[in-house]
Amino acid sequence: MQDIQNTSKLTVHVDPEKCTGCGTCTALADQTFALNDENISEVINQNGNSDEDKLLAAQSCPTQAITVTEEESEEKV
Ligand code: SF4
Repeated sequence: MQDIQNTSKLTVHVDPEKCTGCGTCTALADQTFALNDENISEVINQNGNSDEDKLLAAQSCPTQAITVTEEESEEKV
């Protein structure tokens, strides 16, 4: 994994086409992700959880629907 833990500027994005609404990300980072009316995860607050939790949620997504980018390099995790 890239050495991006030192930054506090990770941006998460959910691809609604890939999300199955399993709820893993909302359980791991419940201040950042929430399921909408269609049972698709949405980012409700980029700063809702720590970067660590956001990364963990992204890595735990079974369909890899969550992309994480670092603001400056736009490194994809
Ligand atoms: S972990 Fe992935 S598939 Fe599950 S709700 Fe979150 S974005 Fe959707």
